[in-house]
Amino acid sequence: MDHFAYRDGVMHAEDVALPAIAEAVGTPVYVYSTATFRRHAQVFRDALKGAGRVHLAYAIKANPNVAVLRVLADEGYGADVVSAGEMQRALAAGIPASDIVFSGVGKTRRELAQALDAGIGQFNLELEEEGEVLAALAHARGERAPAVLRVNPDVDAGTHAKISTGRKENKFGVAIDQAVAMFDRLSQHDGLDLRGVAIHIGSQLADLAPLEAAYARIGELVAELRAAGHTISRVDLGGGLGVPYKPDDVLPSPADYGAMVARATADWDVELMFEPGRVIAGNAGVLLTEVIWVKPGVLNPYVIVDAAMNDLARVAMYDAYHDFVAVEPSGERMTANIAGPVCETGDTFAMGRDIDAVKSGDLGIFRTAGAYGATMASTYNSRALVPEVLVDGDRFAVVADRIHPETILAAERVPEWLKR
Ligand SMILES: *Cc1c(COP(=O)(O)O)cnc(C)c1O
Repeated sequence: MDHFAYRDGVMHAEDVALPAIAEAVGTPVYVYSTATFRRHAQVFRDALKGAGRVHLAYAIKANPNVAVLRVLADEGYGADVVSAGEMQRALAAGIPASDIVFSGVGKTRRELAQALDAGIGQFNLELEEEGEVLAALAHARGERAPAVLRVNPDVDAGTHAKISTGRKENKFGVAIDQAVAMFDRLSQHDGLDLRGVAIHIGSQLADLAPLEAAYARIGELVAELRAAGHTISRVDLGGGLGVPYKPDDVLPSPADYGAMVARATADWDVELMFEPGRVIAGNAGVLLTEVIWVKPGVLNPYVIVDAAMNDLARVAMYDAYHDFVAVEPSGERMTANIAGPVCETGDTFAMGRDIDAVKSGDLGIFRTAGAYGATMASTYNSRALVPEVLVDGDRFAVVADRIHPETILAAERVPEWLKR
């Protein structure tokens, strides 16, 4: 459930009419709903009530805006970060370092050192050498780095190949059949406090079965590690729960997921860590855009909107579907293609879709754009970097400025030898 709805024929975010935001900030612009973030955070937490000792670390990469992080910090969420930049955002939002998990297959030595300096709560190791380097860095500081070993359970998550992470040929985690031997070796290091294991098999998972299969493998691994004499106090079950993008999509609910987790982990006797991203942020944001032209096409007209693939990359990257609705629908319908201004055919949001009839100057929204939206934006085609607005009840604030092409141009230099 989200807090974007029509009132008197006008799409609102909570109590704010979207035309008011377009008027004040211009378009394209991402609009987020605080109440929706809070609701999703609470629903996910409640869903895991039956799963024992649970820690929640919001996967910042889904939506790293610092105001959004502040809302989720208020809801008691820690952070899952994948770079020093994300760690800085989490700390800036007031998330305690001890509630930060550092994931990622390519943490640099410098980033590991920065994270040790910050005192983060958990390093998710991706390879043995990373564990050795981290141990040495921590040992030199007279510390023990809290860590878990990320395992690749070799399951097919059944999602888009580009966001599938748990097959053995993917770059993530260590092969599950090597995990015990590696755990044995890494646990010898004084600089490491190796507490358990982690998995994350992919994103936008529409079916719980692959997750349940992966969790079963992890359960067996925990038993093997204990049999080998290791103390296992923590298992990180990652993120990945999908959200509905199409009006008729049916996905497992957080409650279904929580029940599965409780079942799968009943006899583990560990602290569980979760790293939800999309399920918290996806439906908490929309991309508000204005129709520039309705261009006649051979089969269907092209609705050319002022948002493009540089603002919302998911369609071009993953063939994703984003529902498009008019902000003030007339009741008429049209069959149209929806595209942005970027000079690539890939900059097309929909082909031959039945949508609200729109004309130039009308406002529309792409729904479910709160996750992997603004954070993937670029300035391709020398377009502005898209701004972000956070709504809370009847108030709203710009929480990320539009960065204009002249600002980007100002950071570029013509070398001496090319000057005239
Ligand atoms: C991306 C990612 C997540 C979050 O995935 P969602 O599908 O957004 O829930 C969690 N953990 C790790 C390690 C990730 O890379």
